[in-house]
Amino acid sequence: MSYKDMLICKNLQINDKGHLCFAGIDTLELAKQYGTPTYFMDEDRIREMCNIYKSALEDAFKEKGRAIYASKAASFKQMYRIMKEEDMFCDVVSVGEIYTAIKAEFPPEKLYFHSNNKTDYDIEFAIKNNVGFFVIDNTEELLAIDRIAEKLNKQPQIIIRVTPGIDTHTFEAVATGKVDSKFGFAIETGAADEITKLALSLKNIKFMGFHCHVGSQLFDSDVYIRSAEIMLNYIIHVRDDFGFSASMLDLGGGYGVRYLETDPTIDIYENIITVGKYVKDFCEKNNLELMQISFEPGRSIVADAGLTLYTVGNVKKIPGFINYVSCDGGMADNVRFAMYEAPYTVLPAGDMLKNGDMKSSIVGRCCESGDVIQPDVLMPSDIKRGDIVAVCTTGAYNYSMASNYNRLPKPQVVMIRNGKTYVAVKGETLDDLIDCDI
Ligand SMILES: *Cc1c(COP(=O)(O)O)cnc(C)c1O
Repeated sequence: MSYKDMLICKNLQINDKGHLCFAGIDTLELAKQYGTPTYFMDEDRIREMCNIYKSALEDAFKEKGRAIYASKAASFKQMYRIMKEEDMFCDVVSVGEIYTAIKAEFPPEKLYFHSNNKTDYDIEFAIKNNVGFFVIDNTEELLAIDRIAEKLNKQPQIIIRVTPGIDTHTFEAVATGKVDSKFGFAIETGAADEITKLALSLKNIKFMGFHCHVGSQLFDSDVYIRSAEIMLNYIIHVRDDFGFSASMLDLGGGYGVRYLETDPTIDIYENIITVGKYVKDFCEKNNLELMQISFEPGRSIVADAGLTLYTVGNVKKIPGFINYVSCDGGMADNVRFAMYEAPYTVLPAGDMLKNGDMKSSIVGRCCESGDVIQPDVLMPSDIKRGDIVAVCTTGAYNYSMASNYNRLPKPQVVMIRNGKTYVAVKGETLDDLIDCDI
């Protein structure tokens, strides 16, 4: 396999020196200028993905389409500024994300507050800060919202998260649409009816509609059509049996990205147009007025806009067994392989014209045998201390899942826009690490 065949996104290229380029810039230059480990993010790609979602939703549903960025994928102030400029809405799942968004002057009315366990403190914080929507995950929280809203003399908008009962055949850890999921109310057990009836009886909320999110890393428009069908049938049932017309339906996130060259490509614009045709036909046939339809992608907005650069340290060859290539980061900045064996493409940034002739496990520097960024990747056998390796598609769920395990400072995030770089999140210093210690 040649590294030329492993350029999984169009923002990856090889220049005439045989170096990997990201967003048009030589990655060795990036490593020299910013040091490693560093997360790089291609801002033009992020904006391009926002525009694909926005134009697809507008073409499919006119003014009833709405694109929401699921900000847990990558949450920091500059991301919310970009989303504000791109006229996106955002999902948030914690007070920390709400606070970050507000501090970046993202309009709180355009936030959807998810989470399967919102505390009274979270709810009060969100209501006081005028967060636009609560996505209801359980009965206790709905009652708490009603109670706290009454105390604050507000009437927050809510949508109810329903579990349509779909097995998406994706990884267990990221499948969320099945009946036994931690999230949401299942239709088939009657739980969805119970919460709907309760919501209709409460005075201090505005009940707007329904939400579902069936999984992640999905490539099949069929999954969205099946969940739309179940949700629209449910909306008809609620209209006919409880007299409530839902004005919002959120079909969740989950579109897949390419981590490996063997992953399929997906035309998200066409996919949404296909789902849109289905939804409009369904509404027409069933005499249902088209409600507002939203999608809330996270990964597909930011994942392939990201690339992490590391410097190689120790190369440990155990003949007949395994070769380790250690890098100066690891599970503290990218926990996804350690957590659920997520695949990644790893490239030798300075040696892209060489052959990958040494099967290697790319490991980090944390004190855990499980601190693996990616096993079984092919590296040139002369890879050595000081070389740069690039891990592709790290824009989603890397920085946002980073920890300080082993007291490693979190790396900086450097954005690239129109061929120019700037620091979007500063790297932590040693003093930052002890800042909360007494
Ligand atoms: C995580 C999540 C998303 C985003 O999923 P992606 O796979 O990143 O697109 C959307 N909606 C909900 C409710 C989520 O939990």
